[in-house]
Amino acid sequence: MRIVMLGTAAAAPDPDRNHSAILITVRDRHYMFDCGHGATHQLIRSNVNPGHVDTVFLSHLHYDHVADFAFFVLTSWITNRENAPVVVGPPGTRGFVEHQFADGAFAKDIEARAAYKNRQGNMHVLKPDVRECEPGVVFEDDLVRVSACYVEHIPQEISPCFGLRLESVDGKSVVFSGDTAPCERLVELAQECDLLIHECTFPEKALEFRRKANVGTWAHTSPVELGKIATASRCKSLVATHFGSFDTTYPVLRDMMSVHMPRELIGPAFMEDVVADIRRNYSGELRLAHDGMRIDL
Ligand SMILES: [Zn+2]
Ligand SMILES: [Zn+2]
Repeated sequence: MRIVMLGTAAAAPDPDRNHSAILITVRDRHYMFDCGHGATHQLIRSNVNPGHVDTVFLSHLHYDHVADFAFFVLTSWITNRENAPVVVGPPGTRGFVEHQFADGAFAKDIEARAAYKNRQGNMHVLKPDVRECEPGVVFEDDLVRVSACYVEHIPQEISPCFGLRLESVDGKSVVFSGDTAPCERLVELAQECDLLIHECTFPEKALEFRRKANVGTWAHTSPVELGKIATASRCKSLVATHFGSFDTTYPVLRDMMSVHMPRELIGPAFMEDVVADIRRNYSGELRLAHDGMRIDL
């Protein structure tokens, strides 16, 4: 199994990190988890034809996890994608997908391109096979089984959010937290997995700042909490991801992020705090995600 971290940022526009997306390849079959901005370009960079990715799992519908989806489908349509992608996600996924194509946001683009005869042969790929799911087993084929649980991120009545676990026919398991505050259900889902890919959006000092500034703190997991979660899950290896641009060096982005944390702390050294805080409760294998990072299991 090969895992490629296509995008590792939280919601800010960070030129050094694309938005959330993970490619998992089992034997020769590709599965994509989230489709945040930049995901399609990152597939190209990873030497994978977007048209060969037939299954997409969406953890939730925040734009930093789904904004590349139309681009992913449309570019693979015009480069002769053969199969309509399967899209697995929590309730709300159908509305998100269906408002993009036929009568949706890109209707005129599609009408214009479909005027060419050679675009008409695979119009069916513009109707993704959407599977809105409840927690439990959400997808199964001959190579993988994927299960989901609800995590603690957006209030359930607005938009439920998934954590996801993929188990391969080769006996390997990967768990992706999506976005979440510390969540007991996720710890259960992640029990003894080979790889836990977990969000780690803000350092402790940013969370303190957000608490004082009343920006809201409940929706993400802090590094100290992440260490506890990794230990409790008994995962064999941890990847921290979904970083809130606290390590950026771009002056404009540092200004933008100063609503979330003290500006003077923002920069690459801030990552050292994150590692030290995860390490307070977790001594196992740890990686800090960056775009293009590849892990072979
Ligand atoms: Zn996010
Ligand atoms: Zn989110």
